[in-house]
Amino acid sequence: MDPRSLISHTQTLLRTEPFSDHYRLGVKELGRGKFAVVRRCVELITGKEYAAKFLRKRRKGEDCRTDIVNEIAILEMAHFSPYVVDLHEVYETSSEMVLVMEYAAGGEIFNQCVADQDEAFTEKDVIRLIDQILQGILYLHRNNVVHLDLKPQNILLTSCNPLGDIRIVDFGLSRQVDRIKEVREILGTPEYVGAWKHKLKAGVSCDRRRKHCVQSGSKNRQGRGKSPEVLNYEPISTATDMWSVGVLTYVMLTGESPFLGDTKQETFLNISQVNVDYSQEVFAGISEQAVDFIKSLLLKNPRERARAEQCLKHPWLSSLTEPEPLKDDKALKKNEGDLKASDNTEEIVLLAS
Ligand code: ADP
Ligand code: MG
Repeated sequence: MDPRSLISHTQTLLRTEPFSDHYRLGVKELGRGKFAVVRRCVELITGKEYAAKFLRKRRKGEDCRTDIVNEIAILEMAHFSPYVVDLHEVYETSSEMVLVMEYAAGGEIFNQCVADQDEAFTEKDVIRLIDQILQGILYLHRNNVVHLDLKPQNILLTSCNPLGDIRIVDFGLSRQVDRIKEVREILGTPEYVGAWKHKLKAGVSCDRRRKHCVQSGSKNRQGRGKSPEVLNYEPISTATDMWSVGVLTYVMLTGESPFLGDTKQETFLNISQVNVDYSQEVFAGISEQAVDFIKSLLLKNPRERARAEQCLKHPWLSSLTEPEPLKDDKALKKNEGDLKASDNTEEIVLLAS
């Protein structure tokens, strides 16, 4: 990645005393990635629960502290968005950094995406959650940050039953975008940029898709969440996140990954040809407005994709609230404000090496 797109300073105090002086670690591991383990912990002085992300500073023999500092800086920047996970404290040792974050007790939305029909999201749930995801993304984009890894494993819930609110996590791949320059370089090492690793089984409506999904092998999963520009080493922009919102919406409604093929090559071809199944069979019981919403995002040309503030005005999202004029009025004012504040986001382009 282009180091110019990394933020190199943080305001958070990097504590050097032992983490265990202040927290008791839970046995439960909340998640694990290539270079990080996330565990539940309890702050000794308050008894409050948090999630601690332990990040190794050296990866594949290279010092990656600057990447972690960037992740911290972006969490700081997003502090005032209710839909981005809150950063509480940071600890640093010689080998690792520990990000102590708000604990999102509902876990990944991934779990509901693969749940059986009776536990899967309803369309009404999806409308509310996508609205929150979009508000979080709008906040990031207005602050010239792209997430670049929006997938069901990185979207958490504050609670599961009853269904709580969204918390966006994992800013490990996020970058600051340059509003002025279009840096014409190439995005490298895409091996884990937005790869959706897990198999999806079922969703709101889709028995046939479930079958297709269960049958599909495990080796072809990588890359199915990538946008065409990521696959083709083309410029990355805020629109790249919007593609991911399209894929997320599809998955949350149908339980199926829209581009999944039988082989990795087939998946990549499906993405580059934007080969999406919008048939009645897949979308049985789901509104036409939902399909229209997804279609406004799964467009090959990033410039044609709807932006976050446009999505928030889509009739599908207001279909839940329409009868309440007061709310509509508020939403209208809010959206007008959003538009003014984010007129420049379309031009934001980041190319990384
Ligand atoms: P990685 O960069 O390794 O993917 P993430 O930040 O995505 O790390 O965390 C890995 C997993 O840990 C997430 O997918 C989620 O399941 C869990 N997790 C992360 N942050 C939290 C949190 N604040 N509350 C609860 N679970 C979390
Ligand atoms: Mg993650």
